[in-house]
Amino acid sequence: MKLHEYQAKEIFRKWEIPTPEGAVAFSGIEALQIAKNLNATKYVVKAQIHAGGRGKAGGVKLVDSPEEVRTATEELIGKRLVTHQTGPEGKEVLKVLVEAASSIKQELYLGVLVDRNLNRPVIMASAEGGMEIEEVAKQSPEKIFKEWIDPLVGFRSFQGMKLGFKLGFDAKLSRKLTAFLGKLVKLFEGVDASLTEINPLVLTEEDEFIALDAKLTLDDNGLARHPDLAELRDITEEDPLEVEASKHNLNYIKLDGNIGCMVNGAGLAMATMDMIKLSGAEPANFLDVGGGASAEMVENAFRILMSDKNVKAVLINIFGGILRCDTLATGVVEAAKKVHVDRPIIIRLEGTNVEEGRKILNESGLDFQVADGMKDASEKIVSIVKSF
Ligand code: GDP
Ligand code: MN
Repeated sequence: MKLHEYQAKEIFRKWEIPTPEGAVAFSGIEALQIAKNLNATKYVVKAQIHAGGRGKAGGVKLVDSPEEVRTATEELIGKRLVTHQTGPEGKEVLKVLVEAASSIKQELYLGVLVDRNLNRPVIMASAEGGMEIEEVAKQSPEKIFKEWIDPLVGFRSFQGMKLGFKLGFDAKLSRKLTAFLGKLVKLFEGVDASLTEINPLVLTEEDEFIALDAKLTLDDNGLARHPDLAELRDITEEDPLEVEASKHNLNYIKLDGNIGCMVNGAGLAMATMDMIKLSGAEPANFLDVGGGASAEMVENAFRILMSDKNVKAVLINIFGGILRCDTLATGVVEAAKKVHVDRPIIIRLEGTNVEEGRKILNESGLDFQVADGMKDASEKIVSIVKSF
């Protein structure tokens, strides 16, 4: 689950990580009030959307008075911001973060994330802060320094000192950085984060490190342990169909193509998407109904696929392992009777009780085509969408 910058900074403060003073505002008046209460001479107004690259896109404004904070806020709210991370359609700004501006001596990059190859968190730091870290990683990967955290012994001070020296700091600043890192790693573990990124981490004129920007992504599987954090979810930032799917425990991700997919098992869903692409078309979604899909889940999945206008035809690809093919076929037939299915459907079934399953589908009187294998299924569905 992604958080907004203002939410991440509130959590940072709880873990005693220095951040600029500020608060979130939903209107110009509110922003004005917040600015007046800040102990500042310069202010920053920052669009709150789930995407980075706001600075370059005009989503971060530096101003000199509370009145200007109000104007900047009114300009931003309601605007669609297009950054390199939003896609061409952009994201609508509904709120801004109003902060006291910081005096910047140096901008750095700092991140903690899970290294899935080594099964442990990794700290990444670079003196190339404030810019796109993906570019740095591509152009000059030697400028990103890494320290892996052994889950048994935790973060050690010498690792912080090592990073500090590599970044070019003296012992005193390296010790400050180490203290900062210690808190950040504690937070990372404490909230079950999968990623936290501070870009830029700023060294102020007063030689203090503060998190000027804050990105925090929580591991969905850890949310059950943090009901207070689960409440921070902002569904206005998410795709409405994905929100609907998550209510029904369906693993659904909307994509740009026109072939709707309903598959059981994430691996098979990936393979199905590959087959569609190989046959020359694009999937409209990833949808894993799970190993034990009930008739009700199939029905919900149908409803979500049918409410996507881009879906021209649906490919159902099921392997009957835990779930028997006849049970699934019955579920599909029931669901198709309840949901108005007005687009062609190809079904490929394999596994336990497959013959019974095919029979149920063939005798249902519904307009399904049953395919013979994955290759046949993907070729059939692609030829259907190509014929429109
Ligand atoms: P992003 O572009 O979405 O990553 O937004 P950031 O929060 O990283 O802000 C982008 C840039 O705005 C930063 O790299 C800074 O250069 C600048 N900026 C943000 N806040 C301040 C501030 O308080 N003072 C100054 N001088 N610049 C700031
Ligand atoms: Mn940033």
